[in-house]
Amino acid sequence: MIDLFSDTQTRPTPAMRRAIAEAEVGDEQLGEDPAVNALQDRVATLLGHEAGLFLPSGTMCNQIAIKVHTQPGDCILADRNSHVMRAEGGGPAFHSGVLIDPIPSPRGIFTPGDVLERIPVSPGPHVPPVTLLCVEQTHNYGGGSVWPLGPLRDVCDAARSRSLATHLDGARLLNASVASGVRAADFARCCDSAWIDLSKGLGCPVGAVLVGSSDFIRRARRYKHLFGGAMRQAGIVAAAGIHALDHHVDRLADDHAHARRLADGLAAIAGVTILNPDVPTNLVFIDLRGTGVAADGFVAAMKQRGVRMGLVGGMLRAVTHLDVSRDDIDRAVAIASEVIADLR
Ligand SMILES: *Cc1c(COP(=O)(O)O)cnc(C)c1O
Repeated sequence: MIDLFSDTQTRPTPAMRRAIAEAEVGDEQLGEDPAVNALQDRVATLLGHEAGLFLPSGTMCNQIAIKVHTQPGDCILADRNSHVMRAEGGGPAFHSGVLIDPIPSPRGIFTPGDVLERIPVSPGPHVPPVTLLCVEQTHNYGGGSVWPLGPLRDVCDAARSRSLATHLDGARLLNASVASGVRAADFARCCDSAWIDLSKGLGCPVGAVLVGSSDFIRRARRYKHLFGGAMRQAGIVAAAGIHALDHHVDRLADDHAHARRLADGLAAIAGVTILNPDVPTNLVFIDLRGTGVAADGFVAAMKQRGVRMGLVGGMLRAVTHLDVSRDDIDRAVAIASEVIADLR
């Protein structure tokens, strides 16, 4: 199977499995797991923040960050198609009791004006306090778009000028860094808190690391425990994260080149349109309407012939990652061309 469903589909490499097998471990809940502690310090340094916290998932990073930054009844700002808004089961309302004021934007990139116009100038008792801005780098449903550093800094400065906290959903922050040449820390330091996912492009089986000030992480650690995310010999999985940071960051450029190659190959099929034709990183969103072929039928027929793609947010998406080679891309394009010819 050529699995383009998501960059979450990677399997640990043999070398990563060796790192896992050799991990030094301890009781993570007590702060005694050396691999977890090393990973937390490593990611805090990488992202230019004081401290880090290893968590089971990126979703938990977002949910805990929102919990720390807000009080029930607050309003938070996030892009209309952000992961916190669309794909976390209503977590912000459930866990933190907050409203989201969704910001409409073409590709997940909005402006300081979009932020400022949502913050009441003189809030009375009847107005929910707006206390947090969330940004996503890269933006998933925006087609893997990358916030350039200047515009990211500008929206965060606008939020801060009105006393909002700022949080960066960096599930694919390292993709943004590799694609733009901007250091991950420069992006992450725009915000009070940030995180990276280990289980996407980095190719680990599990985990994510949230960073912020020491005080923020101290409070986040309480919610980690409260939400049931405090683990025991978690160094078994943290060791994979350390291995990935050593070996799987620079190679994200290959994923981006493969996504570009996939998009070019698919666009050459009559009637196929690429919705993010700039292909900024490793996500390709595909519109088949010009072929007359239905996306769900296409996905089913592709899967039968050994290529898996996904429908996310109602859109056909293909994602490149560690387990997809350049040859796989060429085969996937050839199979897509046959499938469309058959179904047309
Ligand atoms: C995948 C993803 C998440 C959630 O991460 P998990 O580790 O799957 O919980 C959050 N934000 C974005 C932008 C994502 O793509």
